[in-house]
Amino acid sequence: MKVDFSRNFIGGAWVDPQTDATLPAIDPATGKAFGAIPDSSDADVDLAVRAARRAYDDGAWGRTTATERGRMLTRLGDLILANAAELSAIEAKDTGKPKSVADADIVALARYFEFYGGAADKLHGETIPYLSGYHVGVVHEPHGVTGHILPWNYPAQMFGRTLAPSLAVGNATVLKPAEDASTSALRLAELAAEAGFPEGALNIITGRGATAGAALAAHHGVDFMSFTGSPQVGQIIQKLCADHYITCTLELGGKSPQIVFADADFDAAIPVIVKAIVQNSGQTCSAGSRLLIERSAHDAFVSRLSKAFAKVRVGAPEMDLDCGPIITAKQQGRVQSFLDQARADGIPVLAEGVLADGIAADGFYVRPTLLGPVPRDNVIAREEVFGPVLTVLPFDDEADAVRLANDTDYGLVAAVWTRDGGRQMRMVKKVRAGQVFVNCYGAGAGIELPFGGAGKSGHGREKGFAALHDFSKTKTMVLNHG
Ligand code: NAD
Repeated sequence: MKVDFSRNFIGGAWVDPQTDATLPAIDPATGKAFGAIPDSSDADVDLAVRAARRAYDDGAWGRTTATERGRMLTRLGDLILANAAELSAIEAKDTGKPKSVADADIVALARYFEFYGGAADKLHGETIPYLSGYHVGVVHEPHGVTGHILPWNYPAQMFGRTLAPSLAVGNATVLKPAEDASTSALRLAELAAEAGFPEGALNIITGRGATAGAALAAHHGVDFMSFTGSPQVGQIIQKLCADHYITCTLELGGKSPQIVFADADFDAAIPVIVKAIVQNSGQTCSAGSRLLIERSAHDAFVSRLSKAFAKVRVGAPEMDLDCGPIITAKQQGRVQSFLDQARADGIPVLAEGVLADGIAADGFYVRPTLLGPVPRDNVIAREEVFGPVLTVLPFDDEADAVRLANDTDYGLVAAVWTRDGGRQMRMVKKVRAGQVFVNCYGAGAGIELPFGGAGKSGHGREKGFAALHDFSKTKTMVLNHG
């Protein structure tokens, strides 16, 4: 079987889409198309969901044991590592990531399959003491068919993050990658078949959100949805799920604070804070996009941070610098309009990164920008830019830091930088976020670590054992044995 970016992967085979409509696959570093993917319709989605349904209800996949599923997942992890160079090249071409970032993403992708391969037979049930003469057992069952919609920022990693736990539990899956970065998912479908997943366990359909994505979330053959993307589309997904009484995991955006107290180790903090916003060109839901700095340390810290920020270099994937281009011309325009508005609002630019010589004029590049001080009510202090833009906001004391940290609609990740142990614990408790890092930051790190948000950042948990619970439901058996 040869991977084919112009067809969907349904029921274990490459299937021509029902219409000839295609979408271009565009290289963000040059702005040029390098291929085309299917612009799938409702009919394609229906085929994929039916294939998953058959696999789960009557097929070989529905009869697999947890141990067998674990072996398949582990084999897929091994195949990903064996094909890492090719997968990394596909990912870098489709997203514009620097080569070493794409390499690291493929290792993380393999880790998802390794971790959930090992976890597949460890989701155990329980017995509950009940009335005399009764035995009560609680088991974890798959939902059935799970639908998965991905964003374009970490297409390969997200493939592993959402599919590996769902498959480990025993769901049959239908995945729609983002239309702006679908090629790695198609290649991975082929590797999954090679790893031994039976037909229909994993189906991939490409296409646009408002058509293929909405058709998937609305399909009555789908029992659970996992969505990663923008808060606006997350709301649409939740409403579509409500229409047929299913639940969903929403992994949405963020406006995550880096909270730096005057007693922090500046040398340790500065490189981590810079990386947490420029990594993947700021197109990371858990990017540390707000720097909250104790006012007494503001000038000293910001002057050192500005020097580090001015050294950030931006270039094409093969240059392997700190930052690549933005994914599309549209997103580039969106990031630039935030920057233009900030300048129009009189917010000082503290530092800008450097565009490398030799980048293509039509690539979607933006200069990483450090802005501050930013008024607390300014749009750039509150809304997700999803680009390499860091905003500096001073705070007065610990209570003010908590207020400011929680003063957005989001609640995904936070970091606290201080040497004071009591303050570390108080801040962890009071900051609204699904993950809080102390004297470190791990945007996207840790397959083992439960991850998810509150408020506009979404709900549900992925990663770690928590994902196995979200991708399954309990069944309670009450047996009267007299
Ligand atoms: P997006 O919401 O526009 O698209 C995400 C996916 O949803 C794509 O596959 C798209 O085709 C699909 N989609 C779009 N409209 C749809 C509709 N009406 N019905 C069904 N599906 C639809 O977001 P994006 O531009 O791809 O990604 C950027 C956003 O994603 C940012 O806000 C970012 O913070 C967030 N994100 C969050 C996480 C996380 O784990 N929390 C990870 C990555 C990205």
